Amino acid sequence: MQQLLESLGLDQLNAGVCSAGHWHDTDGAPIITSTNPATGGNIASVQCATASDYEQVIAQAQDAFASWRMIPAPQRGDAVREIGNALRRHKDALGSLVTLEMGKIKSEGDGEVQEMIDIADFAVGQSRMLYGRTMHSERPLHRLYEQWHPLGVAAVISAFNFPVAVWSWNAFIAAICGNITIWKPSPKAPLCSIAVQKICNQALADAGYPQIFSLINSADQPLIENLVDDSRIALVSFTGSCAVGKEVGRRVAARMGKSLLELGGNNALIVDEHANMDLVIPAVTFGAVGTAGQRCTTTRRVLVHHSRVEELTKRLVSAYQQVRIGDPSDPDTLMGPIIDDNSVTRYQEAIQALQDQGAEILCGGNTIDRPGHFVEPAIVMAENEWPIVQRETFAPILYIIPCNSLDDALSKQNAVVQGLSSAIFTEHLAHAERFLSHAGSDCGIANVNVGTSGAEIGGAFGGEKETGGGREAGSDSWKAYMRRQTNTINWGKDLPLAQGVDFSIE
Ligand code: NAD
Repeated sequence: MQQLLESLGLDQLNAGVCSAGHWHDTDGAPIITSTNPATGGNIASVQCATASDYEQVIAQAQDAFASWRMIPAPQRGDAVREIGNALRRHKDALGSLVTLEMGKIKSEGDGEVQEMIDIADFAVGQSRMLYGRTMHSERPLHRLYEQWHPLGVAAVISAFNFPVAVWSWNAFIAAICGNITIWKPSPKAPLCSIAVQKICNQALADAGYPQIFSLINSADQPLIENLVDDSRIALVSFTGSCAVGKEVGRRVAARMGKSLLELGGNNALIVDEHANMDLVIPAVTFGAVGTAGQRCTTTRRVLVHHSRVEELTKRLVSAYQQVRIGDPSDPDTLMGPIIDDNSVTRYQEAIQALQDQGAEILCGGNTIDRPGHFVEPAIVMAENEWPIVQRETFAPILYIIPCNSLDDALSKQNAVVQGLSSAIFTEHLAHAERFLSHAGSDCGIANVNVGTSGAEIGGAFGGEKETGGGREAGSDSWKAYMRRQTNTINWGKDLPLAQGVDFSIE
C-alpha cells in the first residue's frame, strides 16, 4: 500500500486543498481520514479547507479564468491531451487507488481511469468543434449568428462511487470550453482527488500550460453550502443523492446560477416473453452486483413477464452463487465491499423492511462476517408499489417483479420518481421499438439487449425526473459549460427594424 501511495505522490498526511497548482498547508485545519472499505483500516489522512483557504481558491480561480479564456480552444484541447497521456501512464496505479479507497474491483477501478482517458480524447476533438449556428437574417445586409463563450468558474461536487471519472467528465469538457474548475470531492474518497489533481498539475506544468484545476477537500457542511451559494461560481455540477441534489438545485436557482444535476436512479430492466435469457443473466448479474450495487445505474428492479419468472430466478440465483466476494484487489474477485458502516446499516434496514412486507428473499440478505463492509448480494421477490422498492438503496439488492404484459412492465418501470437508466431484453422488434418510443421508457438512458449500467462516454449521460435532468460527458453536453450569445451585425447603410416595425424619425 505504501508503495502505491508513494507512486502517486501521497503521504500519510496530505494537503487536501489546491488552488491553481499551489497546495495549501494549513496548520490546525480539520482532518479527514481515508479508510479502506475492504478492511476498515486507515489508509492516510487529508487536511481540509478552512474559510481562508476557500477564499484563496475562489480568488485564484477567478484570476486563472481571466487568462485561460484567452487561450484558443484547440490549444486548451492540447492541454487536455497532455493530461490524457499522463493518465495513460498512471492508469494502473490510479485504478489501484480507486480500488483501495472506494472498494470497487480492480478492473472497474482501471475502467474508471480508462473513462477519464476516453473523455480526455473526446474533449480534445470537441475543442475544435464548439460550433455556433448561422441563421439568415430577415433584414437585408444583416448577419445573424450564435456563438458560445465560457461560463467562468465551475464547481464540481462529486459522489463517492465514481471518485475520479465523474470529475473528469465535467472538468475536461469545462476546460476546453475555457472554464476553471473547482472540485469538492466526496469525503469518502479524498485520496483519489489528490492523486488526480497531482497528475493534472504535473501534466499541465510539464507542457507549459497554466494551472486550471483547484481542489477543496471538506466535510464541513457550512463551507460546502457556501460553495453552492457563491455567486462567483457560474455553474455547480452536482453528482450525488436525490435528497442532497434537490437542495443544491434549489439553492443555486435562488441565486439564478446554473446547475447540472446527476442524481439517484431506480433502474429497471424489462425481460419480456421473447427475451434471450443467455443475455439477460450476465446483464442483470453485472448490473445488480457490479460495484457492489453502488452505481447510479445499478439494476435495481427486474420487470419480468410471468411466463419467464421461474427460468429467470433459477438461473439468476445460480449465477449469484458464482459471484466471488472478497478483496477487491484480487483479480478473481467480482464483488468487493460496500463503502462504510452507514451503508451496511441501510442495507440491513432495507432487508428488514422487505421482510416486514412479507417479501420472499431468494438469496442473500446477510452481512458477511469479516473485516470491512461486506454484504451478500440479495435477490428478492417484490412488488413495485412497496415504499422500499420505490427508494434507491445504494447496495446490492435486486427486486424481481412479475408483470402481465409489456404495457404492465412499462407502466411499472416508469412508476418511480427517478428516471436515470432502463433496459429491455427482447428479440421482438415491435416490443423494442415500443420501449424506445415516446410512449415507452421515460428515462434518460434506454437500452435494448444491453443492461442498465456501464455507459460509454460518447453519449450524453443523465436522467429525468428526480434524477435531475442534467446531461454530462459526450454528445452536445459541452453546451452546459458555455453561455450562448446571439449576434446581429448590420453591414448596410440603413437601420431596418425586425418584424417590419416602422419607427422612422424625420
Ligand atoms: P451524497 O449525496 O451523500 O454526496 C454527494 C456529494 O455531495 C459529496 O461530495 C458530499 O460531500 C456532498 N454534499 C453533502 N451535503 C451537501 C450539501 N448540503 N450541499 C452540497 N453538497 C453536499 O451521495 P453519495 O453517497 O456520495 O453518492 C451516492 C449517490 O450519488 C447515489 O444516490 C447515486 O445514485 C448518486 N450518483 C449519481 C450519479 C449520476 O450520474 N446520476 C453518479 C454517481 C452517483
